[in-house]
Amino acid sequence: MQPSPAPSQELAQLSDKKAPLRRALWAAFVYLLAGLAWIAFSDSIAESWFTDPETLSSVQTWKGFFFVVTTGLVLFIALLRQLRKDRALLRLQHDQSQALRRRERQLRVLMDNLPGMAYRCRYDEQWTMLFVSEGCTALTGYEPYELTNNRWVSFADLLDEDNNTRLSREVKAALDKGESYSVEYALTRKDGSTIWVWERGRCVEEDPGGLVLEGIILDISDRKKLEKELEELAIRDSLTGLFNRREMTRILEEELARAKRYQRPMAVLWIDFDHFKDVNDTYGHAAGDSVLVSVSRLLKDSVRSVDSVGRFGGEEFVAVLPEMDVPGATEAAERLRRRVGKEPLPLGKGTSVPLTVSVGVAVYPNHGLTASKLCAAADQAMYRAKERGRNCVALAHLSEQAHNEL
Ligand code: GH3
Ligand code: MG
Ligand code: MG
Repeated sequence: MQPSPAPSQELAQLSDKKAPLRRALWAAFVYLLAGLAWIAFSDSIAESWFTDPETLSSVQTWKGFFFVVTTGLVLFIALLRQLRKDRALLRLQHDQSQALRRRERQLRVLMDNLPGMAYRCRYDEQWTMLFVSEGCTALTGYEPYELTNNRWVSFADLLDEDNNTRLSREVKAALDKGESYSVEYALTRKDGSTIWVWERGRCVEEDPGGLVLEGIILDISDRKKLEKELEELAIRDSLTGLFNRREMTRILEEELARAKRYQRPMAVLWIDFDHFKDVNDTYGHAAGDSVLVSVSRLLKDSVRSVDSVGRFGGEEFVAVLPEMDVPGATEAAERLRRRVGKEPLPLGKGTSVPLTVSVGVAVYPNHGLTASKLCAAADQAMYRAKERGRNCVALAHLSEQAHNEL
C-alpha cells in the first residue's frame, strides 16, 4: 500500500489551482502524441505489409476501427476511474457532513441543557459575547441575541464596578499563567434582581480581534444563600437572634485591638436579670423565653449602631461599646437599666411582667487591659450591683495597673 501524503502535502496540492489544468494538458498531449505516432507509423507499416490495394483499404478500415475502439476503451477506463473517485469523494463528504451535523446537534443539546450558560467571548472591556447558549435567558433574563455582540447590552453592563474589576483581575492572572480561571461574582439580571454566579473558562484561541475565551457560568445563588445562613447561624444565638458568646468574644477582641491601636477607651456592660428564675417558676419556661426575646430587641434598640449586644448564656447579656469612657459607659448602662425597668416585658399570650436588670460596667483601659480581665471586672461589678439590692449599675474596680498609674 502506498503511504498517504502528509496533511501539509495534501494541503499544498489542494491549494495549487493550476494542477487540474496541467494534468488535463498532459493527458491531451499524450493522446495527441500516441494518435500522431499511430497515424504516421501504422500507415507505412500497413503499406509495406499489404501491397494489394483492396486488402490495404480494408486493413486501413480495420485499423481505424481498432484506433477508435482502443481510444474509446482508454477513455472509458479513465472516466470510470474518475467517476468512481468522485463518487467516493461525494460519499465521504456526505458522511462527514452528517457526522458534523450530528456532533453539532449533540453539542447544542448538551449546551442548552447545561444548568447555566455556555459562552464564547472576546477578552475585551465589554466581555463581548460571540456566542451564548440558550441558558442565557434563564440566567440573565436577556435573550441570547440581545447579549451577542453587545447588541442590546454587554456582559460587562451586568456587573457592578467591584465585581467587574475582580473578574478582570482573576481572568488576567489565569491567562498570564496559561491556566483556566474560575470566579464567583454577583450579576444583575434584566429584571434588576441580583444573583451570584460561578464562572469557569479559559482562553481558546487568538484571532485578529484578540483573545477568545470560552467557558460556562452557573447560578450559585442558592448555595450563597445557604452559606450566608450557615455563617449567621454560627454567630447568632438561636433563641434571641443576638450575637452568641463566641462572636461576642471575637468582637470584643477586635474592638479592644482597635482601642489599643488608636489609644481610645471602650466599655463592656455585663447585664443580668433580677430574679429571672421567678419568671420561669411562675409563668413557665416558654414565657421566660419570650421575655428573653423581647428584652433582646429592647437592648438592641437601646444602643448605638456601632455597639454590639450579645447573649452570653442564660439570661446574661453583654454589650461592647467602642469609644466609650467611664462617664459615658455608666450613663449608657443607667439608660439601659431604666428602659428595661420602665417597659413591662411581654410573656406571650397578651400578658407582661415588670423586670429589672443589674449591670456591671468595665472600661478599657481603666478596669482591665485584656478581654478576659475586662469581662471578669464587668462580671464582678454586676455581682456587686446584685449585692447592693439589684436594679442598679455598678462600676468595676480600677485595675492594678491603672491604679498604679493614677
Ligand atoms: P438574680 O437576681 O440573682 O440574678 O436571680 P436569678 O433568678 O436571675 O438568678 P440567676 O441569674 O442565677 O438565674 C438564671 C435563671 O435564668 C435560671 C434559669 O431558670 C433561667 N434561664 C437561664 N437560661 C434560660 C433560658 O434560656 N430560658 C429561660 N426561660 N430561662 C432561662
Ligand atoms: Mg439573674
Ligand atoms: Mg444569671
